[in-house]
Parts: sequence; structure tokens; C-alpha cells
Amino acid sequence: ATATETRKFEAEVAQVLHLVTHSLYSHKEIFLRELISNASDACDKLRFEAIASPGLLSGDAELHIDVSWDTAARTITIRDTGIGMSRDEVVANIGSIASSGTRRFLETLGSEQKADARLIGQFGVGFYSAFVVADRVTVLTRRAGEAPETGVKWESDGRGEYTLEPATLDQRGTTVVLHLKEGEDEFLDGWKLRALVRKYSDHVAFPIRMPREAPAQEDGDEAEADAAPEWETANDASALWTRPRSEISDEEYQNFYKSLGHDFNDAAAWSHNRVEGSQSFTTLLYLPSQPPFDLMMGGRDERKGLKLYIKRVFIMDAAEELLPHYLRFVRGVVDADDLPLNVSRELLQHNRQLERIRGACVKRVLDLIEKLSRDEPETFAAFIKAFGNTLKEGIVEDAGNRERIAKLLRFASTRGEGEAQTVSLDDYVGRMAEGQDAIWYVTADGYRAAAGSPQLEAFRARGIEVLLMSDRIDEWMLGHLREYAGKPLRHVAKGELPLDEAEKATQAEAAQAAAPLIERIKALLGERVEDVRVSARLTDSPACLALAEYEMAPHLARLLREAGQ
Ligand code: ADP
Ligand code: MG
Repeated sequence: ATATETRKFEAEVAQVLHLVTHSLYSHKEIFLRELISNASDACDKLRFEAIASPGLLSGDAELHIDVSWDTAARTITIRDTGIGMSRDEVVANIGSIASSGTRRFLETLGSEQKADARLIGQFGVGFYSAFVVADRVTVLTRRAGEAPETGVKWESDGRGEYTLEPATLDQRGTTVVLHLKEGEDEFLDGWKLRALVRKYSDHVAFPIRMPREAPAQEDGDEAEADAAPEWETANDASALWTRPRSEISDEEYQNFYKSLGHDFNDAAAWSHNRVEGSQSFTTLLYLPSQPPFDLMMGGRDERKGLKLYIKRVFIMDAAEELLPHYLRFVRGVVDADDLPLNVSRELLQHNRQLERIRGACVKRVLDLIEKLSRDEPETFAAFIKAFGNTLKEGIVEDAGNRERIAKLLRFASTRGEGEAQTVSLDDYVGRMAEGQDAIWYVTADGYRAAAGSPQLEAFRARGIEVLLMSDRIDEWMLGHLREYAGKPLRHVAKGELPLDEAEKATQAEAAQAAAPLIERIKALLGERVEDVRVSARLTDSPACLALAEYEMAPHLARLLREAGQ
């Protein structure tokens, strides 16, 4: 008895399906990349599990992905001999939204807000992109190592429901059949499909096979209705990062970047290196040009995109083990020669070899950002706009690279371009006034509050530039960035202003003249202030609050109060 069960998609899935099918209309063809990428992931997973349980590969040791089409039935089929899915896995992985990041993304989308293709691209459309071209999708899957009768058939029209039924499948792995929508016949074409495979999936490390096209039939004398197609490999099937740099085009690098998932915009830059020696490894690291949504959300648990391979065998997503948190925007691949294949996450956390690789990755990424700042100011500006605040965390997290990171940051300033954060600490230091011995900054809740602070009057009057800090993270960062290029960083509200001799005399006179007034104010304010002084800080405003040298800035004090500290 075949019990067909009908289930509803999770509400979020329905929402994603709607967004995806409506936003990707001009990027339809990426469905093929997404499905091949899933097939490739499934082969990676099986190859990894087979290290511990070789029996999983029995019957068919070859891992490959087959893409075929049927003009009469109007279907495209993508089949892999990968890990496959159990019934529970099908429900969990394609009936609901497994990624908490996608969930958060959806929560932030108001009901009226439209997600454009770019936004969608930032969270990786994945399996559901099938419904951009298909009005019915059938998935047949059986987990490696399980009996043929444990197979599952999943089917949906991508509206609100899907059906599940048991299926007997002779082979392990997953078959996805797309029943094309009216008007999508352009994809029922070997040339077209082959071109798409080459464009998007050339570097997939498993053979992607397609039926060899039959030569035009000769006069029908020998009607060989040969059912079993002859397969030929359509992609390069070599892992891109193992090839020499000189042989890889920019386009190939970009396509590989997109295949890593979670972004379909171009990367801003990349760095590809092979380290030979007592410990050999290859790194291919990318800087995105747009923040992925989970980074914008401050997501800590979604750290995908840096894959660890050992001798070309995919081991795991290991961004956390390979990079510090403040470089979490980096995507790419690390392939090590000398790590044991059976590493676990726990082992990785205390592995000396991995420590070295991690150090090399950090260095490569900082080199790469520096190079961008030197050679491609526009791309760099966009990059810093997207990731500058993330990078600031490095000032706190990575004391060893503090100066290097500080050099890369950009700020708003009283001599900058309004709100835009374009001034580097080097710019600032380079135009410091004669005798100026500190880098001055002010912090506030927002740019306008910072730029309008009465504390700035005296600095303006003296022609001293002040950095305007108004991002949430700035106070925290500044607590750790005490100096740059040998110059201390100082809050404008803290301690004494630098005065010359003439100013000191005027100041003393003014203080004397105002003594009775000061006494009166002190008496009135009592315990509420520590001191009342005649100030050189102000030119227009009658009074301002100042802080003692080691007091917390008001903005930080308020943040801490809000956090209940
Ligand atoms: P992602 O690949 O980013 O996880 P997808 O929407 O592309 O998101 O796929 C969702 C999940 O469905 C995958 O994580 C995987 O668990 C499962 N899946 C999809 N395709 C396959 C496949 N061909 N073989 C095995 N599992 C698959
Ligand atoms: Mg996917």
C-alpha cells in the first residue's frame, strides 16, 4: 500500500517560495546552479561519511551528478549519487526552513517590503529556486546505506502543500525532476543546459554528466531507438583551488565564489595561495561586495561559507575554526594536506596545525583588504561601508593586528564629507595641527548629535579636526584603541584642553573673575557634580558637561544602563 501523505509547508517556506519565484524572474537560470550545488554537497557529505563507513559506497562507488532532459515530457532531471535523504530529512530540509538565518531574514521583511533579487541572493535561494521555472517538482531520494524500500517520493507545485509517499529506489542518492512551466521550453535544450553547466558549475569537483547528443538521424535505415543514453562529462570537474592561479580567469573565480553559496553578487576581491613546507595548504579567500543578510542581523550562529577540505575531501564548514569572528564575512576554501581525515570539530579547536592555517588566513585577508584600499578605492569604499563596523570588532578581538586594522577603518570627521565615513586615521594624523599631540574624537548616538556637539566649539575655533563617532560599536572599540601611530586617541569631553601660554593666562583671569558665580553654581548643584570650572572649551554655548579623565563617556554609560548593567 502506498500511503500518500499531504502536508502543508511551514508558513515561512510559503513566504520564501513566493519571494523567490517573484524576484528571480530575470535570473531564472540559476535554478540549475542551485540544484547542482545541492547535488555536489550531497556527494561531499557521502564521501566524508564513507571515510568512517566505507560500506556506504557499496554498489556504486562513483560519485557523480547527471543532468538530462526530456522534450516530450517537458522535464529536466538532476540526479546525484550522494548521501540522499531519509523521510525525516526530507521533511526537515525541504518542507521547512532549516536555516535560522533565513528565518530571521523573513522576520525583518515587513509585509509590504519587497525583496528584490539582490536581497534574495544574499541568503541563497537554494532548492526553492526550482519553482522559478517549474510548476511541479518531484524529488526521489534514498539515503546511502539504507534499503531500497526506504526511498521517499516528495512532490509539490510550490504553492502551499507537498505530498510524501514511500518509494522503492534501486540506487542511493537524490533525483530532482522539474516539470517546466509553460513558456520555459528554452531549457529543454542540450546546448543551453551544457552552456549553463559550464558557466555556473564548471569547477564542481564531481563529474556532471549529460547525455551525448545523438547525431542527426541518417535516412532512418537503422532505427536504433537506443534507450540508455551515452553519458559524457560536461564540466571540468577539477577543484578550482587546486589549479594554478595563472590558469584561472576572473570569471571562473567569480563563478566559484557564487557556487560557495549565500551570495549571487560578484565578490569584491579574492586571494588564492598555496603554502608549501613542513605543512602544506591552499587557501582561496573572498571578500564579498555586499553584506549577507545574517551579518546585517548580527547573526552569530550562521557562519557558513568557509569550507575546510583535506586533500580535496570536504570536511566541514569551519569558518569559526579558521577565522576570528570579526572576519566572518570572508568566504572561501581552505584545503590542508596534513590534517587527519577523521578530524572532529572538537579536535580542530585545539589543533596546532590549524592554528597556523588560521594565522595565515587572517594575514591573507588583511593583506587583501589593504591591497583593495591601495589599488581600488571605489571597491574599497563600498566594502568598508558594508563591513567597516564588523572590522571594528577586530580592534577589540585581535590585539596583535590592532594597528593594521585601525589603518583600514574610515570615520566621519569635522573635516570629512558630512556623514560619510571616509577619513582614515592616517589622513587625520597627516593633517594634524602644529603642536597637536592627540587624535580627538567625540562619540554620540547619531551623526547629527556628534557633529552638533558643543564640545566641538573650542576645537573648531583652534582648527583642530575631530573624528565623529556615532556607530554603536564605537565606544567599545575606542575603549581598546588607545593610540594610533604613537598618538593617543582622546575624547573631546575628557580632561583638559591643550592651551598655549596666552590662553592659560586668559583662562586664569576668567576663572578669577567668575569665582563668585562658580561658588554659587556649586552650591546649587551640590552632590550632582564633581566640579564646576571656567572652561576654554566653549565659544558660543554658555555651559557644557565635561568628563574627568577616566570617566565613562555619557553615551557608553547610557548604553550600559540600557543593557541593565
Ligand atoms: P542549502 O543548500 O543552503 O542548505 P537548499 O535550499 O539548497 O539550502 O537545500 C536545503 C537542504 O535540503 C540542504 O541543506 C540539504 O540538507 C537538502 N538537500 C537538498 N538537495 C539535496 C540533495 N540533492 N541531496 C541531499 N540533500 C539535499
Ligand atoms: Mg543549496
